[in-house]
Amino acid sequence: MISFDFRPRTRVSFGPGAITRAGQLSRELGFTRTLVVADPGIRGAGHTATLLEALTAERIETFLFDDFGVNPDSAMVEAGAAFARPLGIDSIIGIGGGSSLDCAKGINFVLCNGGSIADYRGYGKAATPLLPMIGIPTTAGTGSEAQSYAVIADAATHMKMACGDPSAAVRVAILDPDLTLTAPRHVSAMAGYDAIAHAVETSVSTKRSPLSDLFSHQAWRLLSEAFERVMLHPTDEGARSAMLLGAHFAGMAIEQSMLGAAHACANPLTARYGIPHGLALAILLPHVVRWNAPVARERYAALLGTPRRRARDEDPADTLARRLEDFAIAGHMAITLGDAGVKEDDIPELAQLAAQQWTGGFNPRPFDAKGAEEIYRAAM
Ligand SMILES: [Zn+2]
Repeated sequence: MISFDFRPRTRVSFGPGAITRAGQLSRELGFTRTLVVADPGIRGAGHTATLLEALTAERIETFLFDDFGVNPDSAMVEAGAAFARPLGIDSIIGIGGGSSLDCAKGINFVLCNGGSIADYRGYGKAATPLLPMIGIPTTAGTGSEAQSYAVIADAATHMKMACGDPSAAVRVAILDPDLTLTAPRHVSAMAGYDAIAHAVETSVSTKRSPLSDLFSHQAWRLLSEAFERVMLHPTDEGARSAMLLGAHFAGMAIEQSMLGAAHACANPLTARYGIPHGLALAILLPHVVRWNAPVARERYAALLGTPRRRARDEDPADTLARRLEDFAIAGHMAITLGDAGVKEDDIPELAQLAAQQWTGGFNPRPFDAKGAEEIYRAAM
């Protein structure tokens, strides 16, 4: 068995209406002047206003920053740090999709340690510990609130950088399924598929451990039973709760075991073509599962659990790939790379970029440009 060192850094407060506890939890952490990094996309839903009210009720002074996009980049993070610098804040709260949580962490790196976010690429490069943070996801997706990494795109190349530090983990994650009820269908579909991809990739990565399996497998159980229900009945609170918790557990699994080839191949598609992360994964993941089958078949069988209705001679990798294709259909994301505008001639260059992605190094089947090319061609 692989060795591990597990030190949870994040308190998790889960349940419908949990956002109303944000003021009290902030007060317990000693927050007095707080930068709120809020997803501009959720302004209309009123969640930011609810949070600000809860903080004001505890006499916490708040400063709102919401000038960033879906894929936060180095320029947006540095603008956020410049906004926060004269305010004398002692804490940060990120509320919104994964982008706002990543943006909040990125701002924290630059605000506390100076320089540019690219200086913190890798792990443990923050000389001064970051300010205490609270994370409040409003989509069930990245699980960023469970991770000590900020994923920020380089403003020039659009390629993603992973910047990690123990102090970049949020002190409290507030998981309130009610906040996810208002997410538009396509947002829920893409975020949910991302979480599913996290459960699948972490369950076979070369860094997986008995501990990460615990999170990957429970994440898969929750997500795979709830995804299609949320697509059919967006206001089903039970299904929304399962998605939010599943996404969080999948985020905890990433923290332990990293990801694999689907994420390595997805990143260049987002950078080059602007294909949203979750959609890129929906196009690629079933092909990655089939490509990994020769070395990962048994692990995929373990993820799927007891084969109640599965025929004995059925290939678990194929069963899983077909299940993942069904999820893409349910989320209206069952398209090919060609449908998404990718040109066959670009594949060799995309494959070179995919091979440089850190995350591909943890894929169970050794992954290089040749492998990336095979996966892209299968997905055309
Ligand atoms: Zn992802």
